[in-house]
Amino acid sequence: MRTFIIILLAMLSVNLVHSQTHPPKNTEHFVIQYVIGENTEYQTPYYILRSESEYPKILIDAGIHGDEVAGIYACDTVMKYINIYEGTVGFIPMVNIQAFKQNVRGVGVDLNQVFPGDKNGKIYEERLAYEFMDFVKEFNPDYVINLHEAWTKFDENLYGKQKDKSFGQTFITNSETFSDYLVRSHLNTNKYIPNPEYKFRIQYFPFKANHSMDNIIDKLNIPSYTVETLRTLPLADRIKYHELCILTFIEECGVKFTYWK
Ligand SMILES: [Zn+2]
Repeated sequence: MRTFIIILLAMLSVNLVHSQTHPPKNTEHFVIQYVIGENTEYQTPYYILRSESEYPKILIDAGIHGDEVAGIYACDTVMKYINIYEGTVGFIPMVNIQAFKQNVRGVGVDLNQVFPGDKNGKIYEERLAYEFMDFVKEFNPDYVINLHEAWTKFDENLYGKQKDKSFGQTFITNSETFSDYLVRSHLNTNKYIPNPEYKFRIQYFPFKANHSMDNIIDKLNIPSYTVETLRTLPLADRIKYHELCILTFIEECGVKFTYWK
């Protein structure tokens, strides 16, 4: 049985799901709020929502690209309405907070081109990447979900010519064999998206040495996937897609929660 309610507006004509499951009494999660990059120009907050049981544990990050804002707002929405009663969920909504404030992809350089980062890097994104990796290692979640946005919808022809430019409405994995977890999350996300145009597809993308997702998998040995919404859609729709994806990935990893909006 679904343990959360997702209300997606009629605009998306997505099904409304009512949950009959209630958490045990007195099981409010507590929130640990701190920052990475303390006292630096890239200082950015993270939030850890923890129940009495630490596991399963998942981390959601957004804003690695500062102008891909839908995932950032979706984190905010989910944190507002979720109550976790089993497991832990971490959020870093604005990884490159300077880029978010300036509404640009990156300030000095594209953050997703400098992983695993450099503690003493000249450009702040290099130091930020290093600290981000350090945080993920310390937090040590079972999964990391990276929220991004793409300008173009997935298209076989475009993918053949320009892989980087064809990712709207996909879940990206760097493994040619799709994990059970990914397949389940994919299936359950698409259940709520009746319009076939906007259903997500799983897309294999070969290992990239400088990307956050690949470094999390390769260096930290933590499964990680990327959600890409289509940036030409209205912002409100993209936020709802990210919200749906966050909740589904959280649920499929075994975290127990309610979601009332
Ligand atoms: Zn991106």
